[in-house]
Amino acid sequence: MTKQTNYAGASQFANALTGLQAWLESGHKNPSLVGMPEALLQHPLMRQVWHGIDATQVWDCHAHIIGSGDSGTSGAWATPKMDSWLHPILKIQKYFHINGAGLDAHNEDTSFVARLAHLSSEMPAGYKTMLFAFEWAHDEAGEQIKEDSIFHIPNDYAAKIVAQHPQHFEWVASIHPYRADAIDALEQAHAQGAVAMKWLASSMGIDPASPKCTKFYQKMQMLDMPIITHVGRESAVPGGDLNFNNPLKTRHMLDAGVRIVMAHCASDGFDEDYDNGNKIVTSFELFARMMDMPEYDKLLFGDISATTLFNHAWVLKHILQRTDWHHRLHNGTDYPLPGVFPLITSGQFYREGMLAAEHLPFLKDVRKYNPIMFDFAMKRLLSFEGKQFPVSVFETRRMFDKNYKMQLKE
Ligand SMILES: [Zn+2]
Repeated sequence: MTKQTNYAGASQFANALTGLQAWLESGHKNPSLVGMPEALLQHPLMRQVWHGIDATQVWDCHAHIIGSGDSGTSGAWATPKMDSWLHPILKIQKYFHINGAGLDAHNEDTSFVARLAHLSSEMPAGYKTMLFAFEWAHDEAGEQIKEDSIFHIPNDYAAKIVAQHPQHFEWVASIHPYRADAIDALEQAHAQGAVAMKWLASSMGIDPASPKCTKFYQKMQMLDMPIITHVGRESAVPGGDLNFNNPLKTRHMLDAGVRIVMAHCASDGFDEDYDNGNKIVTSFELFARMMDMPEYDKLLFGDISATTLFNHAWVLKHILQRTDWHHRLHNGTDYPLPGVFPLITSGQFYREGMLAAEHLPFLKDVRKYNPIMFDFAMKRLLSFEGKQFPVSVFETRRMFDKNYKMQLKE
C-alpha cells in the first residue's frame, strides 16, 4: 500500500470517528458520574443482587490497568500508534479506553487509579479487583521487542497500586516464559504478592506448547500460582500469531499440574482442531472439550468476563445451561470493558429473554455511576431457561488467595 492510500484511509476513519463521537455524545457515552445516589444503593434490585453473597469472597479476576506513563513514575507504556490516524483501529480503541475508564486524557495514570478506587469504594466492603500487569512482546530468544508491543504495564506498577489501595485491589503478574530471568521474575512476583499470572500468548509471542515453557510451568505448579490466559481470537490487542491462543496449546501446562483460567471461556474466534485433522472449529468448542475431560476437572477453569459482549450471547446461554461447569467458572469484569457503553447493552439481553423489563432502568442508572457494579448486577440478574450463575461464580477468592486455606483453618 502506498503512503497516499494510507492517508486516504486514515481520513475516512477520521470521519467515521467524528460520526462515532457524535453518536456516543447522544447518550451512548459513559458519563462517568460520581457518587451513586442512595436511591440506587437502597434499590430492591440492589439488595437482590447482593443477597446471599459474601462480598469478602468476591474478587473480580480479570481487570486491566490503563496507563500511558504520564505520571512519570508508573513505567506504563502504550504504543504511539494509538495516537496516529495511520492506525485507526488502535486510535478508536484508545478513545474507548479513555471514555470507558472515565480517564482524564492528560493525566491517564493517576485518573485511572483514582476512578477505579472510587468505583471500588462503592462496592460492599471486601470486594476486590485483580489488576493485570502486562508483559512486552518478546522474540523466540526471549528478548523484548518494544516495536511489536501494543502496551506494557510493569509488575512493579501493578504491585504499587495494590500497596496504595490494599482494601480494593490484588495484582496479577505478567512474565514472558522465554526470558532468561523468567524464573527469578516469577519467584519475585510471588514474593511480592501476585495472586496469579496473566498471558496474552499471541501478542506477547508465547507458544504455550513450546518446551521453552516447561521450567516455568514447573515453578508455577510449585508456587501453586494459577494462570489466566487468553484463548481464542483477540480483538483488543492485535498482532502476533493467533495460533498461540488455541486452547489445545495449553495441554502441556495442565499436564504440568498448573491451574488455568481460560479467559472469556474462549467465547470469540476460531481455531484449528489438532485432534481432528486441523479442521477449523470455534475456539469455544475446544474449550468445552477440555472442560469435559475428567483429568482436567481440578485444573481447568473459565472466566466469564466479556461473555456479555453484544455478539457473545450464544456462549452466555451455553455456559448458563452447563450447570455442571458452574463450580469451575469465575467472574471477571474485563474492566474497563463494562464502561464502554456501545459494546455491552442490557437491552439486548431483555430482547433475548435473559433479563426482565424492570431490570433495565435499574441497570442503566447503575452503569452511569459505576460500571463494575453494573457488571456484577447484570450477571447476577441474567438467566436463561431458568438457569442463573450461582453464588460460587462470584465468590472467586478461594481460587486465588494463597492464604485462603490457612484463613479457613483459623
Ligand atoms: Zn481482558
